[in-house]
Amino acid sequence: HPQLETLVDTARFHAAQSPQLPAVVCEERELTYAQLHRESNRIAHAIRATGAAPGARIAYLGKESEHYYEILFGCAKSGTVLVPINWRLTAPEVSHILQDSGSELLFLEDEFGTVLDRLPTAPPKTVVRLGTEDGLAAWKADHPDTEPASSATPDTPVAQLYTSGTTGLPKGVVLAHRSFFAIRNALASEQLDWIDWRAGDVALVGIPGFHVGGLWWATQNFNAGVTVVAMRAFAPRAAIDLIRDRGITTACVVPAMLRMMLAEPGVQPDDFTTLRKIVYGGSPISEALLEESLAMFGSEFAQIYGLTETGNTAVCLPPADHVPGHPRMKAAGHPYPGVGSKVLDGDGKELPAGAVGEICLATPARMTEYWGLPDKTAETLVDGWIHTGDAGYIDDDGYVFIQDRIKDAILVAGENVYPAEIENVLERHPGVSEAVIVGAPDERWGEKVHAFVVPVAGNQPAPRDLHRFLVDRLAAFKLPAAYEFIEHVPRNPSGKILRRELRDRFWNDADRKVN
Ligand code: ATP
Repeated sequence: HPQLETLVDTARFHAAQSPQLPAVVCEERELTYAQLHRESNRIAHAIRATGAAPGARIAYLGKESEHYYEILFGCAKSGTVLVPINWRLTAPEVSHILQDSGSELLFLEDEFGTVLDRLPTAPPKTVVRLGTEDGLAAWKADHPDTEPASSATPDTPVAQLYTSGTTGLPKGVVLAHRSFFAIRNALASEQLDWIDWRAGDVALVGIPGFHVGGLWWATQNFNAGVTVVAMRAFAPRAAIDLIRDRGITTACVVPAMLRMMLAEPGVQPDDFTTLRKIVYGGSPISEALLEESLAMFGSEFAQIYGLTETGNTAVCLPPADHVPGHPRMKAAGHPYPGVGSKVLDGDGKELPAGAVGEICLATPARMTEYWGLPDKTAETLVDGWIHTGDAGYIDDDGYVFIQDRIKDAILVAGENVYPAEIENVLERHPGVSEAVIVGAPDERWGEKVHAFVVPVAGNQPAPRDLHRFLVDRLAAFKLPAAYEFIEHVPRNPSGKILRRELRDRFWNDADRKVN
């Protein structure tokens, strides 16, 4: 393969190389690489015909479909920037993103059409409806399918993703083409098989495309010229059936998706015989879940760690490090070649190996900026280093260990307690399906640990059993002051625990934690 550098190169190269190969499969529909190239050419011409200049923002509100990727490549070829919007958002939240990005054009799936009537502000000047009426086909029909001239370089912005807002008002993270190529090219040049894409792969995309994980994974597979099987929205039974029926070889998932698949009645290792590699990340994974997954899926596992701001993954735990019982199973991974990592204390001083502080990453895949927020950009992106907001440490071999988000740490009598650590241990108890730890106010110690537990069906343990289980395994200041049973864990679409929802009732407005 020649070195591909932009999504424009990707579409052109694979349309020439493997025109008849399906690029995207979604439900019963297929789009070959030749069709993806031609249809995205039409879209690029049609975008330009609306008057959208290079750099214009183009919003997409809808689920995964072949149209989403045609539009992505159409944006890339027209020099505009795709702003995919989380379809679970309310009208005021959608409105915030449309306004903040200044989107001139909105691609809107019919399923979400009523949002338009509820927007508190004027919609973008052009709205193209897709879905049952398929306004997209009519809108692009009169435009040529030849490739438009493009001046895209690796530094040209191509996507603006809004972070999901688990820590505040969503910010638009601007990613250039480079973000979708840097890691792949680094792995290829060092011939590392941490995440390898092979001819003939069929890749499952279950993470939503408005999230960096979903968009990154889909584009990596397009860059490799393999087939992407896109799910409209993730559902565990449908995913298992797709893996078996479509002969899926690779998948990128968040830990919550692994958990859901494992919990499906009747699931068995035979369902996954074609699956060669599972790439997972996006939130901490408990060792219990990882070990169970290794046994069930029987494929290679690679963990990825990163943020929207780092252009998704900057750190990877390769398959070779997935050895149950080995201390590296607790690591998020090792930085890719060309990615810098360091740990800073609260004063910005670099800490030695093993010391816990804020993880900072310098990666060529990083964002260019937060759109329209120079102050926030300057806080997060300092001299080329992304300050992740995650607490962790780096060991002598350069492996990065993530403890949890700094803002989720619970301060008990001056000691930092990281929820993920306690959750990890609790989930080893046979009566615990899932656990969420939050901080509640405590007059004496400042904060105390409160445990929410989803019990295993028909096997709810007594709180004192849970407590006894933890006493042997955790320092006293980390022990929960109370256990509360709940039916399910509130999560956002990318699988992150919405701690705020569980934590808020403990805090009155005056001293509520801001994150
Ligand atoms: P916001 O930043 O607004 O809260 P978000 O949480 O969806 O939105 P992302 O960029 O998707 O934003 O999340 C990045 C965070 O996800 C990291 O900072 C880290 O806390 C967590 N994370 C990602 N991968 C891993 C991993 N492998 N292990 C542990 N945590 C991870």
